[in-house]
Amino acid sequence: MLSRSDLTVVSNREPYEHRWLKGRPVCRQTDGGLTSALDPVLRRLGGTWVAWGSGEADRDAVGPGDVVEVPSESHSYTYRLRRVWLTRDEAKGGYLGYASEVLWPLCHVTLDRVAYHKGFWNGYRALNRRFADAVLEESRERPGPIWIHDFHLALLPGLLKQAVPERRVALFWHIPWPGPDVFRILPERRDLLEGLLAADCLTFQTAGYVHEFAECAHQFLGAEVDRSHDMIQHRGHKTRLTAQAISVDVRSIADLAKTAQVETYMAVARRGLGLRQGIRMGLGVDRLDYTKGLLKRLWALDTFFTRYPQYRGKFTFVQVAVPTRSEVEAYRRYREVIRQTVSEINARHGSGGWHPLEYLEGRIGLSKLVAYYRMADLALVSSVYDGMNLVAKEYVSSQLDDQGVLLVSQMAGAADELTDALIINPYDPEGMADALKQALEMPEEERRRRMSAMRRHLQMHDVHAWVDRCLRDAGVWWDQRQGSSE
Ligand code: UDP
Repeated sequence: MLSRSDLTVVSNREPYEHRWLKGRPVCRQTDGGLTSALDPVLRRLGGTWVAWGSGEADRDAVGPGDVVEVPSESHSYTYRLRRVWLTRDEAKGGYLGYASEVLWPLCHVTLDRVAYHKGFWNGYRALNRRFADAVLEESRERPGPIWIHDFHLALLPGLLKQAVPERRVALFWHIPWPGPDVFRILPERRDLLEGLLAADCLTFQTAGYVHEFAECAHQFLGAEVDRSHDMIQHRGHKTRLTAQAISVDVRSIADLAKTAQVETYMAVARRGLGLRQGIRMGLGVDRLDYTKGLLKRLWALDTFFTRYPQYRGKFTFVQVAVPTRSEVEAYRRYREVIRQTVSEINARHGSGGWHPLEYLEGRIGLSKLVAYYRMADLALVSSVYDGMNLVAKEYVSSQLDDQGVLLVSQMAGAADELTDALIINPYDPEGMADALKQALEMPEEERRRRMSAMRRHLQMHDVHAWVDRCLRDAGVWWDQRQGSSE
């Protein structure tokens, strides 16, 4: 029997970082689906999260063993954050280079964006070794399972199993897994597959990604895959393969959506955005990442206002865009193109103080985000490829009155599950424009039926159910009532 605090979660990005404010280190939540999904889980289960200390004041905030309690000692639900310090080469070559400029675009099949340099690989290996040292140090005192997250740490299962073969190691791969025709581009494909196959359990977002992974392992390593693709054997070691779609904390989001604070934000935001009575609102919320298909979305909105001019002055699309990986040139260029295209579209279709697009650049907190979700008559997710997309699930969770319409890309994992959304093709701007019109003109009864079906689905498949299923797949059983596992 393991105690609830024995779980060790490992990811490159940390859930909280410290920044200087008026000479004091202040704790702030970081962006992204991975950390927003796992934070409530760690708050519930307790345990240790091992992650890169990337904040400017992170070193000043930790205590002995590079550990800090988060969110802060004053919260009733805290867990240990063990920070790992990456060297410049590990951060540049491993994180920004191999992970962000090679694996990320490769797995999202945006192949022109792959910027491969041989030297990145050394950084990636060093980064994984750095994490292995920290996790092994932690694991001497905490004997529980180790749950690794994502593509930055593909070599970590292998490094850990070499040192502690008896320890249960599972890994969740958050992003898509490409087919062998794409994966063969990687010179280090065998090393990555071998690193991963050392895990006891590998979990992907969808059954489709499991299938592609098994195909790659078979083609490039000769691994034996069983018929149902749920067990794979390589060099005598068996790895379980499973698919579990990551989700959101549905109940907390719905509770938040009901609060007076959110109602106040809604009123303030409507005024701030110039949404006079009768103006309908569309919403997009994304990191400024090319995989989110923001440019294609803007072209679709341009097409929409050209094809259906009756919506000028009657519909405003609000885009929340969070700058990300700004150290990488391709991301900075992407941001510039987005800003420029927004201005062009606003100049083309706007008039009398009304803009078709309200572009809000910068990160906003969950309460404000939920206010936007509640206000929006529709939300549009147009990723060209996306492991899951939690924004889609947060939008559904916030629709207390089942009035909104979700449009989601067929290339996002969320489309497999949220089948009552309008499924769109991000490569087809005219089709997207027509889907926007369909959403705006959808009868109330149909909107309610679709949204309530999706809400019911998510209530059954929230982030807590996801974590329980992932850990069960990995052979770890948690008794939720007692908060313990065996
Ligand atoms: N998010 C946020 N503030 C923002 C924009 C986004 O907290 O201003 C959060 C959002 O609530 C969601 C996550 O960032 O939980 C984005 O997750 P998603 O799976 O959609 O995309 P990812 O960024 O992980 O690729």
